[in-house]
Amino acid sequence: MTKHKNLSIFVPHEGCPNQCSFCDQKKISGTQNPPSPREVTRLCDEFLPHTAEEGKSYEIAFFGGSFTAIDRRYMLALLQAAYPFVQSGRAAGIRCSTRPDAITPEILDILKDYGVTAIELGAQSMQDEVLKVNLRGHTVQDVFTASELIKKRGFSLGLQMMPGLYGCSDYMAYAVDTAEKFIQIMPDTVRIYPTLILKDTLLEKLYQNRMYTPLTVEQAVEISAVLVKMFNENNIRIIKLGLHADTSLENSLVAGPYHPALKELVQSRMLLDRFLHDFAHRPQGVYTIFVNGRQHSQATGQKKSNIKALAEKGYAVTVKTDNTITTDDYMILEGEKQCI
Ligand code: SF4
Repeated sequence: MTKHKNLSIFVPHEGCPNQCSFCDQKKISGTQNPPSPREVTRLCDEFLPHTAEEGKSYEIAFFGGSFTAIDRRYMLALLQAAYPFVQSGRAAGIRCSTRPDAITPEILDILKDYGVTAIELGAQSMQDEVLKVNLRGHTVQDVFTASELIKKRGFSLGLQMMPGLYGCSDYMAYAVDTAEKFIQIMPDTVRIYPTLILKDTLLEKLYQNRMYTPLTVEQAVEISAVLVKMFNENNIRIIKLGLHADTSLENSLVAGPYHPALKELVQSRMLLDRFLHDFAHRPQGVYTIFVNGRQHSQATGQKKSNIKALAEKGYAVTVKTDNTITTDDYMILEGEKQCI
């Protein structure tokens, strides 16, 4: 399968009229210049491959939140700068992320004309009360309506969600409810971003005033493991889990479930859930689990957390590697066995 690569171009939403509780774009916008069309041309020319064969696996991604809500002339100028690279085959398409209430049939016509193939919506939550207290300025119905329009016009649809937002009385239940509604919509892709508290945001104020408690890393892992299973079972591709580690994020992070290897922790947790399910039918005792070498650390868990969790249930487990086993499988044998 061809692995897609994005040439990511950050477009800050200057003058955004919204005040989303978690967003620090007002601060970012002051420090990061919006890219000029000329800059977009330069980046595309410099970073995209020169042959159509290689270009098939590249997309130009305008990200930053609300691409279709920025000044219309500026949006068109950015698309006009990027589109020639799609026409020449140096990129397979253009993707952008935006707000659910910034999608109309007219906007979709424009995006279609300029080679946009994928649109991601920052849905964040599928409960109106949560959207409201986080000042998102759109409703759940907006997500349903925009998703339907996007799918009908033949774009690839992506939905983003933020477990652990302010106003959820039960973080797990709210996240599962949002995922269930996503599954009704059946997007092509999802991104899961457990909520982090950044400097100069409403969430920071709420946190400082003890009115908001973010998820712990452990809770974020537990919830994400459930969400990943739900999306996998429905063949919805997860293209991102947790925010990308970078120094600007680390500098503005106040609190929340940030971990540079969140995805790895979630995969490890999902493996533990499968082990626990399998061991439930076995007597307590000594066992060896064989996994592919690439899964050894996931199977063991961070600081041997999976081994400890199994030991608490009465299973003394050693993890060994056997590369004849595929990465989505494992084998459990009784006793402490040598490698095969
Ligand atoms: S996340 Fe909210 S406040 Fe931030 S740029 Fe997007 S719409 Fe505006």
